[in-house]
Amino acid sequence: MSETANRYKEFIEEIPDHVKLVAVSKTKPVNDILQLYDIGHRVFGENKVQELTGKYESLPKDIQWHMVGHLQRNKVKYVAPFVSMIHSVDSMKLLNTIEKEGRKNEKKIDCLLQVHIASEETKFGFSEEELAELMKDIDPGAYPHVGIRGLMGMATFTEDMNKIRGEFRKLKTFYDRIRSSHANEFPEFIELSMGMSNDYKIAVEEGSTMIRIGSNIFGERNYH
Ligand SMILES: *Cc1c(COP(=O)(O)O)cnc(C)c1O
Repeated sequence: MSETANRYKEFIEEIPDHVKLVAVSKTKPVNDILQLYDIGHRVFGENKVQELTGKYESLPKDIQWHMVGHLQRNKVKYVAPFVSMIHSVDSMKLLNTIEKEGRKNEKKIDCLLQVHIASEETKFGFSEEELAELMKDIDPGAYPHVGIRGLMGMATFTEDMNKIRGEFRKLKTFYDRIRSSHANEFPEFIELSMGMSNDYKIAVEEGSTMIRIGSNIFGERNYH
């Protein structure tokens, strides 16, 4: 068995059954993905449109592809035909474009609304206030081709585990509030995507339903 497959097997043993695993394969070759595919894994994440579409084309069609990175509106059309979830919806304009492309493709595209929880300015996402307003104003009837499935957040990149825990806890509290106040209009709003290789343990303890794991499974990435 390959190193990647071994790391995956060890990793999933640690994860509670109710937590979904998105294996983030960015920068890794299709062969690494196939090693997990061959032992039954189907959910993979990418953060760049070009890499995502390339891998989609060369890999088995029953893979569920998640777009986890920032998505520009003019690129939605490339992923809409096959993507199964977009984790990174950070504007109404993007949501409108996804609705339009979903309609063209006669499918419903599952989305998570990204919340900015980190202290870094560089990370994308709505503030809690913006998102609370959006959820109040949005007419679910106007988005038949979008599934608003929940929230996504990325904690600050830091060694300070208390800070990370605080950010995840705050996001979970906000998620619970939104979920309970909009359960009638958005019954599918049940996912909270939080946790990466460095902080997934904390994320799971704090109520994550979906973790996005790259390096713990595929090994460190080499950027050139
Ligand atoms: C790269 C990436 C991940 C996975 O990162 P690791 O630290 O390698 O687990 C998760 N989410 C997003 C949005 C990413 O870009």
